[in-house]
Amino acid sequence: MNFDVIVVGAGPGGATCAWKCAELGLKVLLLDRAPSLPRYKPCGGGIPSSLVRHVEGLEPEKFIDLTVTKLRHTWRGKSPVLAEMTCRDGKPAEVWMVQRPRFDTYLVEKAKSAGAVLRLGVKVSDITVTYEGVTVTAGEENWTARYVVGADGAKGIVGARAGLRLGKRWGIAREVEIPYEYAPPAPDHPEGTRGAILRDACYLDYGSVKNGYAWIFPKAGYLSVGAGMLVPRQPKAEQNVGMILMDAIHTMLGSVGMIYPTGMDAPKLWAHPIPFWTGMEPLATKDGRVLLVGDAAGVVQPLFGEGIQYAVRTGAIAAQQLAANTTLQYTEAVKTELAGEFDAALRVGKVFHRTPYLSYRLGVKNPAGTKLVGRLMSGEVSLEHLEQRIYDKLKNPFK
Ligand SMILES: Cc1cc2nc3c(=O)[nH]c(=O)nc-3n(C[C@H](O)[C@H](O)[C@H](O)COP(=O)(O)OP(=O)(O)OC[C@H]3O[C@@H](n4cnc5c(N)ncnc54)[C@H](O)[C@@H]3O)c2cc1C
Repeated sequence: MNFDVIVVGAGPGGATCAWKCAELGLKVLLLDRAPSLPRYKPCGGGIPSSLVRHVEGLEPEKFIDLTVTKLRHTWRGKSPVLAEMTCRDGKPAEVWMVQRPRFDTYLVEKAKSAGAVLRLGVKVSDITVTYEGVTVTAGEENWTARYVVGADGAKGIVGARAGLRLGKRWGIAREVEIPYEYAPPAPDHPEGTRGAILRDACYLDYGSVKNGYAWIFPKAGYLSVGAGMLVPRQPKAEQNVGMILMDAIHTMLGSVGMIYPTGMDAPKLWAHPIPFWTGMEPLATKDGRVLLVGDAAGVVQPLFGEGIQYAVRTGAIAAQQLAANTTLQYTEAVKTELAGEFDAALRVGKVFHRTPYLSYRLGVKNPAGTKLVGRLMSGEVSLEHLEQRIYDKLKNPFK
């Protein structure tokens, strides 16, 4: 065997897995098809600050671009509500904005410093599993290892070749990055509308996309503006999904007095699948040779469409199992850590998407809802707790 572990894909999931495996003394090869780093990935780049509770050794000051402590909600672009996210002690709860090229490169550097070997410009085309190990093929080149980790994203090839997650379903998101210079809010628009976007607020619009939402996430020097549909409801809706998402982006921009840049200034509009969680399924082959992490494993939280922290966390969990030669327990380990939370998010999402306006009025628009999200983001409460609070509210809406 050339290596103990070959990790395919150097996004947050793969880079973290390679980093943690190398730290635990394994000989690791990290492969990515990108010809060089930093590489771009369409993403809002929002990460809850609770991430550091789960993965040791992260240095937020090295990858945070801006810190968000407020959410601004609108329904179909109208009647904005700005609310603070707070922790139990009243301090602001934080969501970190990262620029993906910088964040992902930070993690890859951690992997390299720990001893992982990085090869870029390598598009993996096949894997072959034998009794002794796994051969990974890219064109004319082959490498062998005891284990392979598929961290190759939403449409990854490793899972497909290993027979894992064959029945997966995707949501879809579109996103554009618009250069932006922050200015102080106009005095008559204290919440930052009309051309003065706040650097410390995420803008969320509901109602234009069924089973989804539109957003503006601030970054230093630009805005990430997008819309996502987490659960395309029916084939007809899926056919129109691109148009629906585009309309939602226009509505989102309109809600802050901006229009979509056109002509020479038109930024590139990206579309990308989101492999949201639909329930626990095997994330390793029966022989334990092939493991999936991150988007390849479908660990995107199905309420917000949040996947970065779960890619990092499954990357770290996989590394522990690989180092201990207990890969047969990997699926169970992910289940223990994430399934309760994700299943709760799935149920909450179903309630929300069945009654979007009522849920918006009673939950989202209510400042108590934003406070609760703050506690979720800081890791003080769980999604299961959020679900319980919603049921309590539905039982007694006036309490
Ligand atoms: C528009 C949009 C907005 C989003 N916003 C947020 C957000 O604000 N917050 C959040 O938490 N999540 C967000 N997500 C989800 C988040 O982007 C993903 O969950 C996250 O990128 C998953 O990380 P990963 O490492 O699993 O996969 P990826 O980041 O997709 O990385 C996969 C890597 O594998 C490589 N690769 C693929 N195939 C091969 C191959 N055959 N050979 C070699 N290398 C290969 C790719 O080049 C890539 O580097 C968003 C998603 C979308 C689409």
